[in-house]
Amino acid sequence: MTQSWAIDTLLPLAKEFYQSIEKQLGVALYRDLPVRRFFTNEGDQKRAARRIKNPRYKEYVSSILNPGDEPVGVSDALGSVTIEQGSCVDVPLFLNTLRNYFIEKGCFIEAEFQEADLIKKAEGPQPLWAYEGLDLEATHVVFCQGIHALENTYFENLPLIPIKGDILTVHLPNRQLAHGVYYKKRWLHAFEQTPEGALCRIGATYEEDCAEATPSPKAKEHLTESLEALLEAPLKYKVIKHASGIRPTTQDTRPLIVQHPEHPSLFAVNGLGSKGTSLAPLLSKALLDYFIDSKPLPDFDEDFK
Ligand SMILES: Cc1cc2nc3c(=O)[nH]c(=O)nc-3n(C[C@H](O)[C@H](O)[C@H](O)COP(=O)(O)OP(=O)(O)OC[C@H]3O[C@@H](n4cnc5c(N)ncnc54)[C@H](O)[C@@H]3O)c2cc1C
Repeated sequence: MTQSWAIDTLLPLAKEFYQSIEKQLGVALYRDLPVRRFFTNEGDQKRAARRIKNPRYKEYVSSILNPGDEPVGVSDALGSVTIEQGSCVDVPLFLNTLRNYFIEKGCFIEAEFQEADLIKKAEGPQPLWAYEGLDLEATHVVFCQGIHALENTYFENLPLIPIKGDILTVHLPNRQLAHGVYYKKRWLHAFEQTPEGALCRIGATYEEDCAEATPSPKAKEHLTESLEALLEAPLKYKVIKHASGIRPTTQDTRPLIVQHPEHPSLFAVNGLGSKGTSLAPLLSKALLDYFIDSKPLPDFDEDFK
């Protein structure tokens, strides 16, 4: 239980960002999310007791619950702590909404980017880039390619570490589970209650040096074991979806905004790791500040502590 990097800056900015899009485009994207972390050993209990007295954690850690307090069907031999200020964003809805918005504005093209088609048309202090085959010209190009940046010769040296993750969506018949995240070694996100039971996601695995990005049977096994350890018996569940992806992480978990050393009009935004939803608003604001207000790009090691 350690405070995330720059959390005091990231959370309010992210909330403001998603809520302003909700308001502008008339969609519900952002939701508060109760988070309860169950202790797995005595060290967890002691750490939570220290955190609750630490002013830096004041806004994030509230009550400590004894074993068996406020039961929710999670096996609870050692007690738990409530984490404040959790939130979630409906990312598929967010992406679809923006996609439609930009299509309507006539500024969205869906195509595979081929590096060979990016041609520098004018050199000098105000270079101009053109993209062959499409009627496109740009003074600046920003690459947001996740792990595929490593296939882009302009940014192939970004210090990215690909970490694969798998997630299961499960249906728990006849079980009531209030909306929220229940964390015990892995997180269980209860996102919908139906008359027949609860719908949840359990995740995620962390796998380095993984050649395949596709869902793996081994990861599914780990996740179902975690589900069985997390919820009290008797447990019935049905896996209804198994998904996987690659996190573009960095060694120090800081994101990256990189300006190409030889082509200063090319940029890469990357290194969002496991925290795309909270980091993206900060990164887009930093880019806008740079392009529109000529502010320097942030130094993520120095500017945010
Ligand atoms: C299992 C798992 C669970 C996660 N859980 C969370 C979570 O709970 N909260 C959270 O905030 N984050 C979570 N993340 C992390 C989040 O998904 C990432 O931080 C985020 O997706 C990174 O965004 P990105 O745009 O940098 O990269 P990506 O999401 O990888 O997007 C890059 C896009 O660029 C496209 N692209 C690349 N090259 C080309 C090309 N040449 N032509 C056309 N398109 C191209 C790719 O197809 C892709 O669509 C999770 C990740 C995983 C794997």
